[in-house]
Amino acid sequence: MNIQQKKTVLITGGSGFLGSHLCDRFIAEGYKVIAMDNLITGNPDNIAHLMGNDNFRFIKHDVTEFTWVTGELDYILHFASPASPIDYLKLPIQTLKVGAMGTHKILGLAKEKKARFLCASTSEVYGDPLIHPQTEDYWGNVNPIGFRGVYDEAKRFMEAMTMAYHRYHGLETRIVRIFNTYGPRMRLNDGRVLPALVGQALTGQPMTVFGDGSQTRSFCYVSDLVDGIYRLLLSNETQPVNIGNPAEITILEFAKEIQKHIQTESEIVFKPLPEDDPKVRQPDITKARELLGWEPKVNRAEGLKTTIDFFRDKV
Ligand code: UDP
Repeated sequence: MNIQQKKTVLITGGSGFLGSHLCDRFIAEGYKVIAMDNLITGNPDNIAHLMGNDNFRFIKHDVTEFTWVTGELDYILHFASPASPIDYLKLPIQTLKVGAMGTHKILGLAKEKKARFLCASTSEVYGDPLIHPQTEDYWGNVNPIGFRGVYDEAKRFMEAMTMAYHRYHGLETRIVRIFNTYGPRMRLNDGRVLPALVGQALTGQPMTVFGDGSQTRSFCYVSDLVDGIYRLLLSNETQPVNIGNPAEITILEFAKEIQKHIQTESEIVFKPLPEDDPKVRQPDITKARELLGWEPKVNRAEGLKTTIDFFRDKV
C-alpha cells in the first residue's frame, strides 16, 4: 500500500490498556495511527514498541481541552477515560470531564475532519442490571449520585452526545458497550479484580474477594474485544453494540481458578462489597454475532495463562 493511501486513525486514550492494543491492531492492518493520551492512567510503556514506526505518532494531550491534529483523519476511536473503579473513584471529576467535555471536543474534531467516530461505552451503562443477560435495548439501573455514578453517567452522557451528533450533524458514529476485558498491559495496581487477585497470588498475599463472591462477571480476552471493535467500526451499525464474552463466572470461582493456575499458597479472604457493585453481568451478544459475524475465540483458561505470564515479570 502506498503511504499516501493509508487511512489515518486517531485513538484517544491510546497508551491505555485497550487503546494500546487498538494501536497495534490498526498498525498491523496498515493504517497510520495517532495515539493521544494525557497519561493520567495511560502508560507510555504500552506503546514504547511503536515509537519510531513511521506510521505511528504519539501526542500527549488532555482531550477535555481544545483538541486539534493536523492532516486528514478517517477514523477516531474515543477511548480516553479512567476505567477501573479505583481509578475513577480517585479521579471522579476527570472521569466526568473526559466523558462529557472530552467527548464533545472529540466529536467536534470528528465533524471538522469528516471522520467516522467510535466511542468506548461500557456495560456500566446498565448499572446493577435488573435484566440478565444484558441486551442493548435495556436502559439500565444506575445510581446517578453513587460513587460509581461518575463513570456510569459520564459514559451515558457520551452515548447521548454521540447520538445527538449523529442525528443533528449527520456524523458517522459507532458505540461499543465493552464488558469486563482482561489481558496483558493491564496495570497491576488498577484495582480491578484480575490484576488484584493475580498480583496477590503471585506474591503470596491473601486474595481479596469482595462480598461473598457470589456476584458474577463475564471476562473477555483483549484480542477478542479488539476484533469486535474493529468489525464494528467498519460496519454500518450506528446503534450501540455489546462486545464481551458471555462466559459468566462468580468472583469466588474466578479467584479459585486463578489460585489453581498459579498454584499459590495464598488463601482467599473476604472484604466488604463496594457500594453499588453490580450483582450480575453478562453480555447478550446476539447483535454482534448477527451484524458483525463476531464472537469470542479465546477461552478463559488460555487467556488467563497468557495474562498471568505477563504479570509474572511485573510483580
Ligand atoms: N473484586 C474483588 N476483589 C478485588 C477487586 C474486585 O472481589 O480485589 C470484585 C468487585 O467487587 C466486583 C468484581 O470483582 O464485584 C469485578 O470488579 P472490577 O473492579 O474488576 O470491575 P467491575 O466489573 O466491578 O467494574
